[in-house]
Amino acid sequence: MARCPDCGGEVKYKAPFMVCLDCGLSFKRGEYDSVRSTIRSEFKKEMGESDEESDRKERQRKRDYHDWLMKKED
Ligand SMILES: [Zn+2]
Repeated sequence: MARCPDCGGEVKYKAPFMVCLDCGLSFKRGEYDSVRSTIRSEFKKEMGESDEESDRKERQRKRDYHDWLMKKED
């Protein structure tokens, strides 16, 4: 049984498409791998360019919050 490359839900074959019963994603049979890698790269784009980059942003965010807290207490 195929699994949805996006949400992992159950996928039914409705010619000529595979259709996810959970999220409604549809794709052709041969597209499964390309759909999966497309989704993965889109997900990466949303989450930031790399782990290192998002770590840096997270630290920056905490610093900003810290600065804001310090100002507030002045
Ligand atoms: Zn799905």
